[in-house]
Amino acid sequence: MPTLGTPTATAAVINKYNFHFAKKFGQNFLIDRSMLEKIVESADITKDDTVLEIGPGIGTMTQYLAESAKQVITVEIDTNLIPILRDTLSDYDNITIINEDILKLDLNKLVDDYNEGKPVKVVANLPYYITTPIIMGLLEKHVPLESITIMVQKEVADRMQVGPGTKDYGALSLAVQYYAKPEITAQVPPECFMPRPNVSSTVIKLTLYDKPPVEVKDPAHMFKLVRASFNQRRKTLSNGLSNDKSLGLTRDDVVAALETMGLSATIRGEVLTLEQFAQLSDLLKK
Ligand code: SAM
Repeated sequence: MPTLGTPTATAAVINKYNFHFAKKFGQNFLIDRSMLEKIVESADITKDDTVLEIGPGIGTMTQYLAESAKQVITVEIDTNLIPILRDTLSDYDNITIINEDILKLDLNKLVDDYNEGKPVKVVANLPYYITTPIIMGLLEKHVPLESITIMVQKEVADRMQVGPGTKDYGALSLAVQYYAKPEITAQVPPECFMPRPNVSSTVIKLTLYDKPPVEVKDPAHMFKLVRASFNQRRKTLSNGLSNDKSLGLTRDDVVAALETMGLSATIRGEVLTLEQFAQLSDLLKK
């Protein structure tokens, strides 16, 4: 049975080790049992699953994950937390603790080493200062994954879900929706954390597609176009894309492709759907 998941239990561990929260690592620890159960339930973990956890903190969610999974690989950057984790997780024999920066780890190799390259499930209460690079890294490096169930800032969860024409729509929305089906599974108030964050949090589950919902010849090229168009959000697509010299496109190339698609030469990237970005990429790929 997990021993953590209440304010008293977390405070006891913090005091025992005289641990000081590191703001630079985005440390807000979960202290609500029912919310922890809810997250693990939305991740749909079974005894066949290998779970990759990012940022275990003092190991609270790790305990809940280890109860349900075959094994948990957990990656923590803060060296001060490692002796604490060895203590709080000592009752479990299915947990591997790795003291590393998740952004520097070769996750494909990690999945090879610990799960013979078979897909794993990611579950994390993410450090908010690096949410986007973590998600983009998992998706774009094609780490073998079944799903990603993560707690993020509410605004970031909204960005992953929205469609064209809204202010939140951008490169993250398109990348997430190309690789996965997003689904919000819980809203989490600040009282569920120690210390309390200044923002509201949301649990979102991304279920990876076997096959992307749109066909495109070169996905990497499409995402280059996506990034270039949202980097220059206020510009028309034809100006934005031709301004980005790395793409090697003239304004006429872009206008001609847009015309073929039946779109105006003055359209902005933020109103294009994923399907339209895929079509544009195929037309512009030389
Ligand atoms: N999972 C714990 C919980 O829910 O109570 C802690 C979550 S806390 C929001 C984020 C955790 O990620 C912290 O333990 C922090 O030290 C860790 N972290 C921050 N940056 C990291 C990185 N680059 N790589 C691995 N872990 C990181």
